[in-house]
Amino acid sequence: MDTPEHPTFTHRARDLENQRFGKWTVLHRYYPQVKSKATYWTCRCDCGTVKPVMAPALVKGGSTSCGCARRTNKLPQSKVRSQENPLYRTWMTMKTRCYNSSHPSYKAYGARGIKVAPEWHDYARFAADMGERPTGHSIERIDNNGDYGPGNCHWATRVEQCSNRRNSRVVLLEGRSMPLSVAAREQGVDYLSLYMLVVKRGIEAHEAVRRLREKGSRFRERAAELK
Ligand SMILES: [Zn+2]
Repeated sequence: MDTPEHPTFTHRARDLENQRFGKWTVLHRYYPQVKSKATYWTCRCDCGTVKPVMAPALVKGGSTSCGCARRTNKLPQSKVRSQENPLYRTWMTMKTRCYNSSHPSYKAYGARGIKVAPEWHDYARFAADMGERPTGHSIERIDNNGDYGPGNCHWATRVEQCSNRRNSRVVLLEGRSMPLSVAAREQGVDYLSLYMLVVKRGIEAHEAVRRLREKGSRFRERAAELK
């Protein structure tokens, strides 16, 4: 690699040919079409990708692969801050609804005083609290007038969301009034089943819970059919 055939060749450039840097194997010098002070080397990644890499990035360890290494020992999907991550998209959309007054859905959220709890302005905290978004689910506030925040949100399917909107019903259970979905969770019964008994059939909450505990599985099957 000592042939000064190229005008930008400089003898000060360290010869890195055939050396290994992480997954990179250095093939030969690379001369950018546009003159550059930086020294480039064409490298082959272990995965087969060939591309020029700046010498300092190789030597100082700034680049150790074409990016495939990062993709393989990648963060859990839920930690990736990208629009391709459903959880991240949910977080962005949630903030938009609450704080971007020029967004159409702001009317139903921010304008009504719905906020994102301070803890959830931190994406990492939001991700830890909610976990990955199951396919076909979206974030739902349990108390429809409450904020987005820990304790007031869960992942719901469309069926569950519609049910919740239709009833936005508060039931009295064990002397306390609470949203139907909170009652279902506290009592450990299926939400949609409870909804059908209380809202559709007018059965009192405590009686509905008792029946669901007795015949839980049958109602869960029915709920599954509806989804
Ligand atoms: Zn690679």
